[in-house]
Amino acid sequence: MSEGTDVTAAGNTALTRRWQGVMADNFGTPRLPLVRGEGTRVWDAEGNEYLDFLGGIAVNSLGHAHPAVVRAVSGQVASLGHVSNLFMAEPTVHLAERLVQLTGRPGRVYFSNSGAEANEAAFKIGRLTGRPHTVSAVGGFHGRTMGALALTGQPAKQRPFHPLPAGVTHVPYGDTDALRAAVTEDTALLVLEPVQGENGVIVPPPGYLRAAREITAATGTLLVLDEIQTGIGRTGHWFAGQAEGVDADVITLAKGLGGGLPIGATLVFGPAADLLTPGSHGSTFSGNPVVCAAALAVLDTIEQAGLLDHVTWTGERLRRGVTGLDHPLVREVRGTGLLLGIALAAPFAAEVQQAAQNHGLLVNAVTADTIRLAPPLTVSDREVSAFLTRFAAALEEVHTAQLVAA
Ligand SMILES: *Cc1c(COP(=O)(O)O)cnc(C)c1O
Repeated sequence: MSEGTDVTAAGNTALTRRWQGVMADNFGTPRLPLVRGEGTRVWDAEGNEYLDFLGGIAVNSLGHAHPAVVRAVSGQVASLGHVSNLFMAEPTVHLAERLVQLTGRPGRVYFSNSGAEANEAAFKIGRLTGRPHTVSAVGGFHGRTMGALALTGQPAKQRPFHPLPAGVTHVPYGDTDALRAAVTEDTALLVLEPVQGENGVIVPPPGYLRAAREITAATGTLLVLDEIQTGIGRTGHWFAGQAEGVDADVITLAKGLGGGLPIGATLVFGPAADLLTPGSHGSTFSGNPVVCAAALAVLDTIEQAGLLDHVTWTGERLRRGVTGLDHPLVREVRGTGLLLGIALAAPFAAEVQQAAQNHGLLVNAVTADTIRLAPPLTVSDREVSAFLTRFAAALEEVHTAQLVAA
């Protein structure tokens, strides 16, 4: 038990009240205060234990308090915590080398602190091509800063913040003809997620990313794959684009890369690698050695523990397990690796999320009718079995309640 965790006095409602008194309300009040985590398990302020099948939204790739991350972060912060970009530190360079090496192609890396910033950098790189136009997908999510929001294909999120940076066309996701019509020689960037995560784990038709690569190559447009959710092992590959044999000009990363610490990365290849020149972009914390040390620990552990294969077969087991529940409330299971969307037959995702929590499971109602799962890449077979048992009970509870209500 970590120090400062006051289970008896605090309770879940006490922190919730404090939260409501002082926190900006942009998130709405969160579901639950969590005080401690270990691997796939977390505990709330009343000592209740949960299996965390959301992993901080695809962030805690090695679970909570993984020894390799703890060691890397503690060691780095105790020796050199920050240097600014006027100086350099070895972990930063090392991480860039490793990331480029994982893509198998020569490239360069710009580090930032979040997914939105990774995409913001990509957007600015697009502007530096001199071309005015950008294409991204309807339903896509690329972050909340003004530039990333302009790329995000969700009008409800955009509307209150107009005017946004101009020149972005949104095309239906998965539609190759729409890409062909929209991408021209005026188009700087085509920005796509390999799987639309926030939109409900939407997998495009086979060949879509390859078509995107061909179309952009023909017009000299940079293909940007937003792998912020799909990257770093989440789909059983280092990068989801790799699995499709697609070499993007720009890859953006964040979420799982830092194993719980905030980091974003914009990987650039070919001519795109030369567009950022001294003074063109920056961030005070860019390449901070502590977060880079955490990310290096994540990459090392994925490699040493063989987690890519583990993700592939554990993800398959989880997917088959949910399908095999054969529950009338489950319409289909979408996704790949350990990024799964359980599409419900009716818009009861919020109810299922709550019932799951009551059964000791943390999952996410990503849309009104979809439950998203993104457990740690380290999730064990036993934890998957426990998940299936509890999730079946949660589904049944919601189903029964709805039948009674109907
Ligand atoms: C989460 C996410 C982002 C935004 O990342 P933040 O760190 O929240 O800014 C961008 N793109 C995708 C695909 C994401 O899943």
